[in-house]
Amino acid sequence: MDNLTLLETLVIIMSINVIFTFITSARVNRTVSIGWRISSVMVFTGCALLVMQQLLSSFFSIILSNYILLLGFYFQIYTSILIDFGYNVLKKKFIFFISLVYAASFLYFTYVDFNTTARIISISSILLGLYLYAIIILYKKNSIKIKELYYAYIFASVFYVYRILSTFDGVGDVSSLFDKNIVTTLSFLFLIVFNLFYLIGVFNCINREKENELLLEKNKFKYFLDFINDAAKNLELSELYPAIEKVLRLSFGVGTAAIFLRNEGESEYSHSVVYDFNDLELPIQKLSKTIKLGEGMSGKAVQKDKVLRIDIEQYPNREIAIECQLKGATQMVAIPLKISGDIIGAITMIYSNGHQRVYTLDNKFCYTLGEQIALLIQNALNYKKIQSLANSDPMTHLFNRRKGVEIFSLELKRLSRNDNKLTVAMLDLDNFKKINDTFGHECGDSVIKNAANMFKEICRETDYIFRWGGEEFLILFIDTDISGAYSIAEHMRSRIERNSIPCIDSFPSTISIGLAETSGDETMDQVLSRADKALYSAKDKGRNRVEASY
Ligand code: GH3
Ligand code: MG
Ligand code: MG
Repeated sequence: MDNLTLLETLVIIMSINVIFTFITSARVNRTVSIGWRISSVMVFTGCALLVMQQLLSSFFSIILSNYILLLGFYFQIYTSILIDFGYNVLKKKFIFFISLVYAASFLYFTYVDFNTTARIISISSILLGLYLYAIIILYKKNSIKIKELYYAYIFASVFYVYRILSTFDGVGDVSSLFDKNIVTTLSFLFLIVFNLFYLIGVFNCINREKENELLLEKNKFKYFLDFINDAAKNLELSELYPAIEKVLRLSFGVGTAAIFLRNEGESEYSHSVVYDFNDLELPIQKLSKTIKLGEGMSGKAVQKDKVLRIDIEQYPNREIAIECQLKGATQMVAIPLKISGDIIGAITMIYSNGHQRVYTLDNKFCYTLGEQIALLIQNALNYKKIQSLANSDPMTHLFNRRKGVEIFSLELKRLSRNDNKLTVAMLDLDNFKKINDTFGHECGDSVIKNAANMFKEICRETDYIFRWGGEEFLILFIDTDISGAYSIAEHMRSRIERNSIPCIDSFPSTISIGLAETSGDETMDQVLSRADKALYSAKDKGRNRVEASY
């Protein structure tokens, strides 16, 4: 093999690399194109050094060019793995390892046992090892994307093993790099073919990646529309939050995010976490305190009214940054939740290794999604407010009669399916008209509020208290028979009697209570009428008493 053939071979390899790099660099992401460029520059430099051996001493040219070529090929492999999986091969560790093996073998076969053939074989073996490593990674990750690479590798391995065997058998002994030997010529030709195959394979892979990205983009909008359709039906926050989680997971591929909502009733803006999902098991609780305008990522996104993103390593709070990085977080994105000028909160999403590469994030889409989410959350909040207004009494904050009827009938249905009992108490403040007439309406109101608070204090969490009418209350003692309810009612009566309310001074404020037990075999009206009768019997018997209907 003469110099011209070697030169041609190397120029072809180099050209393929350079052309490929420039074709693909515009189409792939930054890390990949940087990898390709490094690989091209190295292969180019290695080849140039090899060709112009006279420039340096022959020894240094060979050692340096081989080393650079080796690294060039390593970067080619590293980049292709990165393209395929976003799998970051630990560069420093590998480069160190390659350098060490290379230096050891080169020095050994130069100074200890001078043998050019063994030197070439050892260098090629490292290269073959590198390719093998890439193949194993590809195989392990279950990827058959770069089929061409497998074929090329099998072809290369067979050829290479034959090459080594033939060398040791003396058939194809190579005495120098420029040996006119058919096997040497073939090995260089092979290098071109393998390189070509390899690049075609990776090129195909990039195309496939682009197609996947397009598909993801398409799906992102599909998920978004599905979300808008589904979530518009979810007026309850408890259903809306999981729907938001779903669209974030599907559209952006994130497994960790938090929704913040503005804290009500404060003059200055601040928000806190209302919902989160946390696959990465990050210390979200550290972020879940009250966040003010301009604080943290979410506070800044709200302040600037735009989508913000930051690499975790640049996150200002070092403690959180390090903890997040350890768990695999790579990037944080904060989206403001805004409705026509009003910001109601924010969403923070945390990206982890790999996701960022596949799920391209565009700020405009994030912002629009934020606006839609804000609108849906606001609707749900309004719905909650209206519901609570419709169901509660503003003065005592107890459920009103409307809600009472609804709950009572549900409880009756529940009773009819089991053997439990419930007891209804109808309560009416005694001589209330007189209190109003003597001390005024305002004072009357405070007596009503006082009684309501006392009921809340005494009742269990499972019981229900309703403001049934003006100074009338209804209590459902759940899973309680009449004797149990009687003692609680008696306790209430005596507490009211003993209670001192400033505005009525020493005027007696008492209550009468009528009880009726039911096991769910009668209608609501029937139970209520029995409780009412018991109440009137208490009034008849002189008030300030508890009467029961059996
Ligand atoms: P009895 O012992 O028989 O229950 O006598 P009473 O005076 O309590 O009975 P009545 O039902 O005749 O009077 C209830 C009064 O409660 C009439 C109404 O003005 C007053 N009232 C109803 N709702 C309110 C309210 O929200 N605030 C105040 N201050 N008074 C109310
Ligand atoms: Mg009354
Ligand atoms: Mg009354």
